[in-house]
Parts: sequence; C-alpha cells; structure tokens
Amino acid sequence: MTDGLTRTARIARDLIRFDTQNWGGGRSSGEADAAAYVAEVLAAMGVQSETFESAPGRASVVARVEGEDASLPLLVVHGHLDVVPADAAEWSVDPFAGEIRDGLLWGRGAVDMKQMDAMILVALERILASGRKPRRGLVIAFFADEEAGGAYGAQWLVEHHPELFEGATEAISEVGGYSIDIGGQRAYLLQTAEKALQWILLRARGTAAHGSQHMRDNAVTKLARAVAAVGAHEFPVELTDTTRGLIAGIAEILDVEADDPDAVAERTGTVSRFLRSSLRHTANPTMLDAGYKHNVIPSVAEARIDVRPLPGREAEAIDAIRAIVGDEIEVELVHGDIGLEHPFGGELVEAMTAAIGRHDPGAPVLPYMLSGGTDNKSLAALGIAGYGFAPLRLTPDLDFAAMFHGVDERVPLDALEFGTDVLEDLLLTY
Ligand SMILES: [Zn+2]
Repeated sequence: MTDGLTRTARIARDLIRFDTQNWGGGRSSGEADAAAYVAEVLAAMGVQSETFESAPGRASVVARVEGEDASLPLLVVHGHLDVVPADAAEWSVDPFAGEIRDGLLWGRGAVDMKQMDAMILVALERILASGRKPRRGLVIAFFADEEAGGAYGAQWLVEHHPELFEGATEAISEVGGYSIDIGGQRAYLLQTAEKALQWILLRARGTAAHGSQHMRDNAVTKLARAVAAVGAHEFPVELTDTTRGLIAGIAEILDVEADDPDAVAERTGTVSRFLRSSLRHTANPTMLDAGYKHNVIPSVAEARIDVRPLPGREAEAIDAIRAIVGDEIEVELVHGDIGLEHPFGGELVEAMTAAIGRHDPGAPVLPYMLSGGTDNKSLAALGIAGYGFAPLRLTPDLDFAAMFHGVDERVPLDALEFGTDVLEDLLLTY
C-alpha cells in the first residue's frame, strides 16, 4: 500500500507489466503468467478457478461464483488477458512498465482491457470481503487470444468446455460503458451491438507477358481499378435499432434534428470515428499482392479487403462489393464472423443504466454498436447475449477512441475507481 495506489490501479498496473502481446496467427507472448496472477488474486478472495491451456502458454482462467438468488440465470463477466503488440519506440513511456504519470496509468492494455480485468477482480473482492454475495451467480472469465479472434481463448473454451458457461444467459465485457462528451454533456455509451466481419480476397487474372509489350489484359491494372473503386465507395447510412437509438439520443442532448445521422455523430468529437462506421457497412483495402519482377506482367494480382457489415447483413455487403468490382474480379471469403445486436432494454440494460445513474446522476446512457468485435461473439454460440460494459467516467480531453490499440494507451486513475464502484453496484443489484 506504500505506493499510494488503490487496489484496482495496482492490479491493473501489475497486469500491464505482464507482456501478453498477441500478434495473431497463434504467435504470441502467451497469457500464462497473467493467468496465474489472476488465479492467485481469485484464490486470495476464496474463489477457486480453473486454468485452461488451449496451447502451450495460451491460458484462460474461469471461475464460478455463487449468487444470493440461485434461481436467477448466471451472468458471465469476462475480460481478456492478451494485448495487441506495442512498438516501444513510438511510445512516450515503456508500454509494459505500468507507469503512473499525471494521474493516469500508462501502458499497453490500460484501456484494452487490463483496466476492466482489474475492475472485475476488485469489485468481486469487495463484495466477498464484506461477507456479501453477488445477487446472481457469476461466471468470471479471463480469456486468452481475444485480439486474434479467440481461437486460443473464448472460442476454444466455448467449443471444448461449454459446461463452464452452463446456466448463463448474458454477459458483460469490454468497449462499452465509457463516457463521451456531447456538446458539454457527459453521456455513457452502452454497447448493445457488434458489427460482423468479412475478410475477403479480390483476385484479378490476366495474361502473363513481358513488361515491354502492349498488353491490355493486365491483372495488376484490373485489380487496381477494383481496389480503387471499393476504397472510394461510400456505403449509405442504414440505421439499425441500436444506431437509431444512438442518433436520436445524441440529437436530443444537442437539441438538433436527427435527420442527418452522419452530421449528428460528427458532433461527438473524436469518438465520432467509432460511431460513424457503425452507421453503414464499411470496406477498406488493406493488403496488395502482385508480381515478382519489374519487367514481367504477372497473370494474377490479389488484394485483401476488410469488410465490416452491419449485423445479420453480411451477404448483402459482399453482394454490394461484387457489384462494385464487376465480373472480371473473383471475390473469395477468407475469414468471417457474425455480428450481434441485442435490445437496448430489459432487466440487464436497466440495471447497468441504473448503476451508472447512481454514480453519475443525470448522465444519459445511450446504446451503440461497436464497429469491431469482442469475445461476446464466441459466447453467442452458446446463446449468451453479450453487452459491452466496462464503465469509465472520462474527461473530454482524453481521446479515448485513439487509445484502443493506439500509442500511449492510458487511463485516468479516478476512472478506475468509478468503474470498480459501478461494477460492484451492478453485481450486487442485478
Ligand atoms: Zn479488447
């Protein structure tokens, strides 16, 4: 305690100090040390957990905690232990030192999502230490491999150990519950939806030839045309229940018309980058591959496109891309996953909203759709409805959207306390 840090800050800092970088494709520093640490913290509060290794070093920790009311379905409260890689040369601090500076905790994972891992642990610890129980039973899970889609973490556990989640119907986790500034009004974004993901390959074929020839059947030229067309395409705004609620809520706070959703979302400052991409399908060319010699026209050229369709409308987004690139380009699905959308209503949403309200009275809570994905997609295979609720009260000067996977990731220490309080409240009341 001599360092003056709160329990949540200390655990978050300790977790940041474990290098759990995940490069994807199975290449990772491994989560085993962080998992052992988390299991120890749980054991110290009297919670027995199990550790599962999907592959050497790829460890996830799961524990069940008894609730006050055994008749209620269980709630999964989950976090991930891995982080995206950090290039120390780009950072102002060592990304794995867990430095405290200017009232903030700095480091890779400070917002994605070792802060929430710590908040979960401390909220539970406080409840149990005071001799109470959470209202409903909990499945507490700390997963490996979220940053690469969960094949070695949540997805693996769901496939190999579904019994761990038996009795659970809902889940809460990352990328929601944080505050944003809307025209001077603090409001919270509760994540009720996640976009789908479709990674596609565009392939153009042509005639292989010497680079000095007059050649119109050029695979590189055809591919370049297709890539430029996809990259320049503006998908129209198409609201879902979630984004309709979001835009209406922002418009109400600003006292403006909601008829131009893009313009309304734009008024949320830096977070508008998150929000505008949730109003439509998006498709971004990300990789190009063609040719092997400067004077040889190759017969094949390929590009990779990261397509993020609105939930449940994957096929429609891919059809739109087929229409844009035309018949001469082959379109191949490389990897895909589902989107999610849950109602902004019901008892869990009401409980989360009420918990925020008790700790930040009067601040509106709005639904929003994540343009990326979380481990909630894996849990959906078990019929578990996952929401994003890692509560943080933030100041408008922090570019929170840029923190995710960004350089100089950091979180205010007082936001960690707020989040722990709100989570404790939620687990006691829901
Ligand atoms: Zn994350």
